[in-house]
Amino acid sequence: MRILLVEDERRLSGYIAKGLQNSGYAVDAVYDGEATLYEYGVNSYDLIILDLNLPKVDGLDVLREIRKTDGSIKVIILSARSKVSDRILGLDDGANDYLIKPFDFGELEARIRNLLRREFLQVPSIVSLGGLSLDTKAKRVTFHGTEVVLTRKEYGILEYLMFHQNQVISAEELTEHIWNNTFDPFSNTVRYHIHSLKKKLHMACRIEYIKTIRGQGYIMEAPQ
Ligand code: CA
Repeated sequence: MRILLVEDERRLSGYIAKGLQNSGYAVDAVYDGEATLYEYGVNSYDLIILDLNLPKVDGLDVLREIRKTDGSIKVIILSARSKVSDRILGLDDGANDYLIKPFDFGELEARIRNLLRREFLQVPSIVSLGGLSLDTKAKRVTFHGTEVVLTRKEYGILEYLMFHQNQVISAEELTEHIWNNTFDPFSNTVRYHIHSLKKKLHMACRIEYIKTIRGQGYIMEAPQ
């Protein structure tokens, strides 16, 4: 999952970005309202973490601008504005959630998970397919109870495919949602990680969960 992190305090931004990356999210950090609208316009994000007191364009104006065209992207406001009236204003303008600074990182992560789950599936933190099971909270994969050890990127790919079961997902879409701006689009990275993910799944499960559709992408299906 890919997150746009909007926070002008560099140290706080660095702290949040690092924590989220450690949990397997792709994160792009921006430091003012203008850059937010630019990055939002050119990339595909699953969620935005939005500070309100921002240089150039205020966070609420950024949110209103985004909501003019996009009702579905998840937005969590992360702000020092702690009055009830501020929270109401933010939620009225289309934020999905509102967290007040100072905040607990674990709580931010829990709220992100909650919003992303609501986006994709009406289920608790476990997503299953056949005997394969993903714990999206622990970022852990098991096959009939036995752990399948994956790298962070492999896990990210698998989670995205599990959330989009039975749909063909292009390599381009995977790249958009699993890598951040530092990704080199001309590298073979996606193919490399997919290949090693498929190999590990096959070793552990003896089932071909992920199929390659030539010229189109990848599909994750329940085994026959
Ligand atoms: Ca700020």
